[in-house]
Amino acid sequence: MTEENKTQARDAKHKASMEKLKSKVDARIEQASIEKGVALLLTGNGKGKSSSAFGMVMRALGYGQKVAVVQFIKGKQLSGEELYLRDHCPKVDFYQMGTGFTWNTQDRQADIQAAQETWAHAEKLLKDDSVDLLVLDELTYMIAYDYLDAAKIIQAIEDRPYEQSVVVTGRGGGSNLREVMDTVSEINDVKHAFKAGIKARRGVDY
Ligand code: ATP
Ligand code: MG
Repeated sequence: MTEENKTQARDAKHKASMEKLKSKVDARIEQASIEKGVALLLTGNGKGKSSSAFGMVMRALGYGQKVAVVQFIKGKQLSGEELYLRDHCPKVDFYQMGTGFTWNTQDRQADIQAAQETWAHAEKLLKDDSVDLLVLDELTYMIAYDYLDAAKIIQAIEDRPYEQSVVVTGRGGGSNLREVMDTVSEINDVKHAFKAGIKARRGVDY
């Protein structure tokens, strides 16, 4: 076989397999007929949970949708997404757990208080049908530490407006939470720069 024939054969094979794939995908698209908000859980030990959630924030904003973000952990430093949203997207309802929980706090009662105040805000948003996309960043830790009641959170997610999408991020969260979410992605920690001694990077990690 000449090189040209080999290329032609490969192209034809590719075309056939793409056609097959397309018909499979089309059939699946045809089957998906439910139009409703989606509940997503982004979990696992790998990097990419919160940044994926903020990717969806950008998508929703692109369509002029109403977006709200509630962060259950106050980071050690400001994050780029917070700076950007506060400066350029005043319409985004951005709420961060105030002086409460950080990885460094030792005061359990103050943490619980802060978690509950933050949840009260989240709960309001979970009842607001004008909100198209709601991000509950790092919520799972509040369940893991028993600062918030998992059953109450699950109920509020289930009872949210039909068209509202909600994204929960964080490790763990429990099997009951997984059960009620429509999409669950577990990000695997194959490698992380931090373990090789590379410092957290502005614009990449925060
Ligand atoms: P990101 O916000 O970058 O998407 P994440 O939400 O998946 O990360 P978090 O546990 O919330 O993960 O982590 C926040 C910070 O910790 C980020 O700076 C991130 O790069 C870092 N991080 C995430 N996963 C790991 C890991 N497996 N090892 C070390 N650092 C990590
Ligand atoms: Mg995160």
